[in-house]
Amino acid sequence: MQLYNTLTRTIEPIQADNDKSLGLYACGPTVYDHTHLGHLRKYIMDDVLVRALRQTGFSVTHVQNITDVGHLTSDGDTGEDKLEKGAKKQGLTAWQVAQQFEEFYWQSMEAVNVVRPDVSCRATDHIESQLQLVKTLEKKGFTYVIASDGVYFDTSLLDDYGKLSGQKREEKKAGARLDLVEGKRNPTDFAVWKFEREGENRAMVWPSPWAERSFPGWHIECSAMSMQYLGPQFTIHTGGIDHIPVHHTNEIAQSEAAMGKQPFVRYWVHHNFLQIEGEKMSKSLGNFFTVEDLEKRGIHPLAFRLLLLGSHYRSELNFTWENALGAQSAYMRLLRTVVELPAQSERTVLSQDKLEKVDRYREQFLAALHADLNTPQALATMWEVTKSNIPSGDKYDLLLFFDEVFGLKLSHAEEVLKEIDQLQKSQEPEITPEIQALLDKRATARANQDWQTADTIRDQLVELGVSLRDGFLS
Ligand code: AMP
Ligand code: ZN
Repeated sequence: MQLYNTLTRTIEPIQADNDKSLGLYACGPTVYDHTHLGHLRKYIMDDVLVRALRQTGFSVTHVQNITDVGHLTSDGDTGEDKLEKGAKKQGLTAWQVAQQFEEFYWQSMEAVNVVRPDVSCRATDHIESQLQLVKTLEKKGFTYVIASDGVYFDTSLLDDYGKLSGQKREEKKAGARLDLVEGKRNPTDFAVWKFEREGENRAMVWPSPWAERSFPGWHIECSAMSMQYLGPQFTIHTGGIDHIPVHHTNEIAQSEAAMGKQPFVRYWVHHNFLQIEGEKMSKSLGNFFTVEDLEKRGIHPLAFRLLLLGSHYRSELNFTWENALGAQSAYMRLLRTVVELPAQSERTVLSQDKLEKVDRYREQFLAALHADLNTPQALATMWEVTKSNIPSGDKYDLLLFFDEVFGLKLSHAEEVLKEIDQLQKSQEPEITPEIQALLDKRATARANQDWQTADTIRDQLVELGVSLRDGFLS
C-alpha cells in the first residue's frame, strides 16, 4: 500500500509501527455547527483509507478527536472560540452546543456508513493530559507567557519548524495574519494555553498554573490525545489540506519538542476540499449543504458517498446537484445489479479463463487502491465487473469484496433501494405549470440537440427540486 506523504512530498510504501499494527490519528470535527458535505468528504476518505489498510492486513487503531473547546476563529491565536461563538448564535451554553452538534455529526457519519473510530476523544475530557504536555514544554524551556493572553510556544527554538509545509519560519513575514498577537517573539509562535479575556465570561474554563480561568489551545489537544492513545510516535495522521501550514505544523513542533523524538508521525495524509461553485464548502462562507439537504432532494447519502469515491482524495471536487443526481442513478444501477444476480449460492466449476478473469479483477482493484488510494480507478474496475461474463456467484463475491472498502452497503442492496424509493416518493414535486413549461421547453431543446439550453433548463428544474433521470455516471 502506497500513500502520498505530505512530509516527504513523495508517494511511499506504508510500513507499520510494529509488524502489521499501526496507529492512525484523524483530526475530527469542531462541534459548533452542522457537519456539512465538505466535512463528509474528509471523514469518508478517512474511512476508505482505514478500510483499505484493514483489507490489506494491517491492524489499525483509528483515533479521532472531537474538538469541543479552544478552536479559535482565526489561525493566528486571536478571535473567538468557535464553541463560545456557536453558543451565542444558538442561545445555548458552549456545553449544549457541543453536545447537539456532536450528535448531528454521528448521525451524519451513520448515514454515510462510516465505521466508528476505535477511540473517539473529546478535548474537554482530556484537559489533564493537555495540561501535562504544556507543563513538559515549559519545563524544557520552549514556552513563554504573554500576560492576559496565554502560554506561547517559541518556534525559533526549532531548526526544522515548518518542515511539513516546506515554508521556512523566516518566510512568514512579520505583519502576516499570524503576527497579530502583541508580545509574540516570532510571527509563527502559537498559543498552547489561553487565558480567559476580561469580561469574556466563558462557559468552558479550567484552572492552570498560569491563570485561574483558562483553556487549552487547539493544536495541543491533537498532540496530547494522539500521543496518549498511540504513543509518542505513530504511523499515520490525516487532516484537510488547510491544516498543513498551521495546525499540523504546530502539532509536530510541540510533540517533537516535548518528547525529544522524531518523527512524531511517519506519514501525513491530507485531503483536498469539496467545493461549490469553485469555492471551498464551509461554515464561514455559508455555502454548505448537509445530509438532511441531500435527503430533502431525494438523494440517498450513500449516493453522495459514491460521488466522492469517483474522484481522487487529493483533487478538488466541485459539488453540484446534477452530479449528485447522476451518482444516484449510477448507485441505483449498481444496487439493482447486485439484487438481480441470480442464485448467489449456486456455483459452477469455473473455466480457467473465467478464473483468471476473477483474479485479474481483484488484482486490478487492489493495485488501484494501493497506488495512493486511487478510488476512481478502483470504481472503474467495479463497473467492469458488473458488465463482465463471470458467473454470478463470483461476481457477487467480488462486488462484496470491493465493498469492504467502498462501504456502499451492497450486502443490503434491496433495503437501500427501498430507502431511495421512499426518499424519492416523499419529495416527488408537484408538477406546477411553471415546471411543466420548463419540461416541455427542455424536451424541445433536446429534440433539437440544443444541449446547452437543455442543460440550463435542467439546472432551473433542479433548483425547483425536480430530479431528472437521464444522466449517467460510470
Ligand atoms: P472543522 O470542523 O472546521 O475543524 O473541520 C474538520 C475537518 O473537515 C478538517 O480536516 C477540514 O479540513 C475538513 N473540511 C472542512 N471543510 C471542508 C471541505 N469543504 N472539503 C473537505 N474537507 C473539509
Ligand atoms: Zn487536529
